[in-house]
Amino acid sequence: HFGQIPRVPGDPILGLLDAFRADANPAKLDLGVGVYKDAHGQTPIPRAVKLAEQRLVDSEKTKSYIGGHGDAQFGALLMRLVLSPRAVALAEDRAGCTQAPGGTGALRLAGEFIARCLPGRTLWLSDPTWPIHQTLFAAAGVPLQHYPYVGADNRLDRDGLFAALERIPAGDVVLLHACCHNPSGFDLSHDDWLRVLEIVRSRELLPLFDFAYQGFGEGLEEDAWAVRLFAETLPEVLITSSCSKNFGLYRERTGALIVIAAGHEQLLDVRSQLAALARGLWSTPPAHGAAVVTTILADDALRQIWQDEVEGMRQRIASLRQGLVEALTPYGLAERFAHIAEQRGMFSYTGLTAAQVRRLRAEHSVYLVESGRASVAGLDAERLDELARAFASVVD
Ligand code: PMP
Repeated sequence: HFGQIPRVPGDPILGLLDAFRADANPAKLDLGVGVYKDAHGQTPIPRAVKLAEQRLVDSEKTKSYIGGHGDAQFGALLMRLVLSPRAVALAEDRAGCTQAPGGTGALRLAGEFIARCLPGRTLWLSDPTWPIHQTLFAAAGVPLQHYPYVGADNRLDRDGLFAALERIPAGDVVLLHACCHNPSGFDLSHDDWLRVLEIVRSRELLPLFDFAYQGFGEGLEEDAWAVRLFAETLPEVLITSSCSKNFGLYRERTGALIVIAAGHEQLLDVRSQLAALARGLWSTPPAHGAAVVTTILADDALRQIWQDEVEGMRQRIASLRQGLVEALTPYGLAERFAHIAEQRGMFSYTGLTAAQVRRLRAEHSVYLVESGRASVAGLDAERLDELARAFASVVD
């Protein structure tokens, strides 16, 4: 039985977390794992979530299973949040939502759908991308390829991106980060998106949006710009939405796969397949996180509290980005790291090399992933000067 099983290396980001925990230096700094932290270094439960949970404790009547597509009200409200209440696909009844355990679950479901229902289609991922994309789509059996996204100069490689998209075989699926690209932090401009849309349309590609950070880039509405543009223009779009970050519900595993089809009948065909696939993955989705989201989105007062909290998180990250660049200014490094303030979301490709990252860890107890990705959302505003000094001591 278990005698011949090879041991595989652990997740590098979680391994980094272990090393961080074991580090006795009181001045240690964790810029590895991607969770939002407030000014006290905590990942708080948003007030709107607490209030919704209190209501649920009193009102919840059963823990019986929810349906295979999850809670219908959650689906309706989430689609309005992602697509806008005025979306054509909603009016035409050709958009559907399947609740999943987190954005990860939704991505896995999308992968199973592509592998089983669109056989022979390759899925194109950005290079770099969130490493779990590779893991979960490979596990689903989807053929994978990459298109360039960040160049060797640590800048968004627009030309490489467009040229590669132009060459993707018709009918293939292309995964696009809706906003707050993980790991780089580089997002496309509106003009860039219009160009991607043109290519996707003319090459008849199927877009799969990974929308894990709605509200963390420019705002809840602004961050949905590209998703909504594609959803309004194209007959078919897939979107995975995660409530982990913007609702602070990480461990409750709350997300969904939203499908837009050409017509209502096609939508029902796709949804029948998704229900069957989900049954083989997790049977029925976890209910609690989605019930919290539903409670918040359905109530004007709670929704306002939540929107303000998302905006607070977004602004804090933006000011940390700005603050780090300012802290680097006395070291003559503001220009070299100016991109940190321009990037969006939780992460930044700093441009630090693996050797520099290792020195940061060994000499300063500052923990980054070796790609040079820093989780800006975990920074401590009081310690930006320390961090800038550490950066300065390892760059040449
Ligand atoms: N996509 C991206 C790009 C992410 O960064 C994450 C979270 N790290 C997810 C999807 C999935 O998030 P979750 O499963 O926690 O909802």
